[in-house]
Amino acid sequence: MGKPTGFLEYKRETPRERHPAERIRDWNEFHIPLPEEVLQMQGARCMDCGVPFCHSGIIINGLTSGCPVYNLIPEWNDLVYRGLWKEALERLHKTNNFPEFTGRVCPAPCEAACVLGINEPPVTIKSIECAIVDKGFEEGWIVPRPPAKRTGKRVAVVGSGPAGLACADQLNKAGHWVTVFERDDRIGGLLMYGIPNPHLDKRIVQRRVDLLAKEGIEFVTNTEVGKDYPAEKLLRDFDAVVLCCGATKPRDLPIEGRELKGIHFAMEFLRSTTKSLLDSNLQDGKYISAKGKDVIVIGGGDTGTDCVATAMRQGCRSLVQFEILPKPPLSRAPDNPWPQWPRVYRIDYGQEEAMAVFGRDPRRYRVMTKRFVGDEKGHVKELHTVCVEWYKDSQGKLALKEIPGTERVWPAQLVLLALGFVGPEDTILDQLGIERDERSNAKAEYGKFATNVKGVFVAGDMRRGQSLVVWAINEGRGAARECDRYLMGYTNLP
Ligand SMILES: Cc1cc2nc3c(=O)[nH]c(=O)nc-3n(C[C@H](O)[C@H](O)[C@H](O)COP(=O)(O)OP(=O)(O)OC[C@H]3O[C@@H](n4cnc5c(N)ncnc54)[C@H](O)[C@@H]3O)c2cc1C
Ligand code: SF4
Repeated sequence: MGKPTGFLEYKRETPRERHPAERIRDWNEFHIPLPEEVLQMQGARCMDCGVPFCHSGIIINGLTSGCPVYNLIPEWNDLVYRGLWKEALERLHKTNNFPEFTGRVCPAPCEAACVLGINEPPVTIKSIECAIVDKGFEEGWIVPRPPAKRTGKRVAVVGSGPAGLACADQLNKAGHWVTVFERDDRIGGLLMYGIPNPHLDKRIVQRRVDLLAKEGIEFVTNTEVGKDYPAEKLLRDFDAVVLCCGATKPRDLPIEGRELKGIHFAMEFLRSTTKSLLDSNLQDGKYISAKGKDVIVIGGGDTGTDCVATAMRQGCRSLVQFEILPKPPLSRAPDNPWPQWPRVYRIDYGQEEAMAVFGRDPRRYRVMTKRFVGDEKGHVKELHTVCVEWYKDSQGKLALKEIPGTERVWPAQLVLLALGFVGPEDTILDQLGIERDERSNAKAEYGKFATNVKGVFVAGDMRRGQSLVVWAINEGRGAARECDRYLMGYTNLP
């Protein structure tokens, strides 16, 4: 695979990025793709390691290691090195329905598990994946391929995020008539309205949706199943149903002052911005604006980062991001060895942009918000916080205690809650009588994806809780396979 001596000859290269201070002036993607010859050299770094860990997506110590869709990474690295791009594209599409999404937004647990990564920087797998599929679209190799035969079976997929789209794509390939129901006005789930445009251009999402529609998938938007379309009716109108509704219930922060104006869930902020951007290039004023405001983002994860990047583009006056956990180490800790996902300090695109403007990382660690205080009009004006210390209690569980004398007041006119998600919404699950697991997700065994209701399957965040795009694709594919088996008595889907 690759060139036997490639990893000795070539250094790792990743796509350059537009300068943070420049890119926050627009909403375009900020990666500058590597030239083809450079990518071929990067493919050459794949070193025929014998037992590749990059393509076996497994959970170690609670975190993903390797590729969850089992991309045939060493194979396409080799094909790219040899300039066989079309063949590489065919290999890539065998395992991943939407490499143009993962090639942009995946955190690349494959690279964390790359064998070369034990003592050298790993192969730039994600950029090669993205380049293969981007070239496929540019060259016109990716065209609608409707199935040659139809089975006559009808399947409803509810929810059009990556799980729903992957599931619909697979079931359509198997010849079933697929209808995707989406309550939002655009298809894509969090690909469309969660991940901001600079990270994933919405034209890229729409391009794939258009292709799927040309292949025969029917998309029904502005229709919430359980409200606009009774859930039980699905069971009468379709031969099988796959639920891919996501884990959209946000975690709240029920402390004093929570009811004040100017405190929003991250998704309200992100969704309204992207919708206004797509509808009117932000001219309709129908979005929560950070312009000229002191902004505080509570939550140091990826959703928080997206809020930081969005607030920077809107022209906030100042920006701080609170994280309750301690700052991670700069390199792997002894209890976090390769090929585990490295729990290390990273500067993501949003923080990089805040640093370029305000001169320092916006994150403050081990900070707990105690209360919000408002002005006479009921609008938030400040946050009161305290620093915390983490320790192991008598049962060995992590606990926190406040550090006296570390109380602080922060001005803020906009507060964004990015504290994660607690599970799927209830309506559709209750109407169909679907059992839940102990985390309140829809209950179905991984690999089977069947719920307690005959003919109803579930996939993606709705089953596993808020996760990653690549896991949603994995689950959508798996649920399609099991749904096909249920409908036909056998299945040829992978
Ligand atoms: C802000 C944000 C940024 C993220 N960034 C990344 C990232 O960079 N990389 C990454 O890998 N992962 C990221 N994630 C996680 C990733 O987006 C999700 O894990 C993934 O989208 C889950 O896919 P899904 O198809 O299960 O659900 P979703 O993408 O949530 O899609 C569910 C869809 O179902 C629809 N729906 C729900 N109920 C109904 C109903 N009753 N009727 C009709 N439609 C319904 C919803 O409107 C939604 O469109 C991010 C998540 C968030 C919140
Ligand atoms: S989908 Fe993610 S984990 Fe898999 S090869 Fe692509 S970047 Fe790596």
